[in-house]
Amino acid sequence: MTAARTTHSFDGAAASAAYRSALEVIGAVEPRVADAIGQELTDQRGSLKLIASENYASPAVLLTMGNWFSDKYAEGTAGHRFYAGCQNVDTVEALAAEHARELFGAPYAYVQPHSGIDANLVAFWAVLAQRVELPALQQAGARHVNDLTDADWATLRRALGDQRMLGMSLDAGGHLTHGFRPNISGKMFEQSSYGTDPATGLLDYAAVRARAREFRPLVLVAGYSAYPRRVDFAAMREIADEVGATLVVDMAHFAGLVAGKVLTGDFDPVPHAHIVTSTSHKSLRGPRGGFVLAQPEFADAVDRGCPMVLGGPLPHVMAAKAVAFAEARRPEFAGYAQAVADNAQGLAEGLTRRGARLVTGGTDNHLVLVDVTGFGLTGRQAESALLDAGIVTNRNAVPADANGAWYTSGIRLGTPALTSRGFGSGEFDRTAELIVDVLSATTPAATRDGGASQAKYVVAEGVAERTRAAAAELLAAHPLYPGLDLA
Ligand code: PLP
Repeated sequence: MTAARTTHSFDGAAASAAYRSALEVIGAVEPRVADAIGQELTDQRGSLKLIASENYASPAVLLTMGNWFSDKYAEGTAGHRFYAGCQNVDTVEALAAEHARELFGAPYAYVQPHSGIDANLVAFWAVLAQRVELPALQQAGARHVNDLTDADWATLRRALGDQRMLGMSLDAGGHLTHGFRPNISGKMFEQSSYGTDPATGLLDYAAVRARAREFRPLVLVAGYSAYPRRVDFAAMREIADEVGATLVVDMAHFAGLVAGKVLTGDFDPVPHAHIVTSTSHKSLRGPRGGFVLAQPEFADAVDRGCPMVLGGPLPHVMAAKAVAFAEARRPEFAGYAQAVADNAQGLAEGLTRRGARLVTGGTDNHLVLVDVTGFGLTGRQAESALLDAGIVTNRNAVPADANGAWYTSGIRLGTPALTSRGFGSGEFDRTAELIVDVLSATTPAATRDGGASQAKYVVAEGVAERTRAAAAELLAAHPLYPGLDLA
């Protein structure tokens, strides 16, 4: 029953014919690429994928990206292009934006960003354009960033160093684009972070408020890549309002749970944030890409994403966003989203019952963060040992991580992909058992001076093989794209 409400529904014979023909056409030019595409399907079918940011898009979404829309330049916005002949691009961009507005209940949607990073840059520039006071601009009576003169830009460049961004710290689960130094956002803004309560691992809203009062950011960023709990966006908006900040919520990871109405009320960012950014390819199960939702006062500035941050949009991907958003508006998607969250709780319970320590003690979204130091391992060792056993995860820092950002002390596990294959609570409990078996059977290798390696490890004999066989059994019972046959 779980499988029926979580997997894609599509015509297997039609999809098989489409892909076989496509591979024949591709193979006539470069057979090695056609072979790699086929092999990728085989590999994805054969791995227990627990990467929290990955999913499986439907054949309809995937097929929408492989066509002549890819060839079209369409800088500008629907009805206002800098290229001729964009009437069909106008159609798909307008459809994608309309579906996004309806799906999320947002007044405005911009679907051109090529990725989550682009979506954040568009949002941050929109805030700067809208909020930074430019005396010259105001005197000239200009109203828009496109009206800025060179002198205005010089003022803006000087002002940039003074602008501040407050986001979640990386080791508490924030993202690089939330003002951190290796990313351009960390050069545009002076950055400060809020973390989580050291005792519980949970967001402490009083501490966020205190930091915001002290730091006075222009932009308060909420959202995460590795925080396993809901965020109270109503509380974050209250804090933003109190200090005069603009609230930008990056829902890249949990957009599927918002679309599927698992996160509602105070936990739905859309009614509370000034601007919401997202990817379309994670829990939302669409094509690789980004989008921005905004309150009306920011719509105009967001609309200038191209040419401020972006070049030509990707019409084939905007078309696929329209298809994916249309899929997410179907009632079945709410069932899928609920199953993603239920399965994450099942996985968390299965791990905890078997002795694993979880950051925050559990989850109420789509991901679980395991502190693997309880097994005497670094995140790097746990990730590699699990991969040897056919379980694909990624290592991740935990709050105040003693092993640093490279080796880390944690692994992050997500349920969106396997839920798309039809995994339910029983399969996730078995997955928890396999994970704990492998981690319990793994020990750090000794270094030359007799210490414990942070990277090398030894897995007890036979455990990887046994786990691979058990994983294969689970996967065989829930095939990826059932009915899709390339042979
Ligand atoms: N924002 C968050 C919270 C993310 O987790 C990610 C990706 O992992 C991004 C933005 C960037 O998305 P993309 O890889 O599409 O640029």
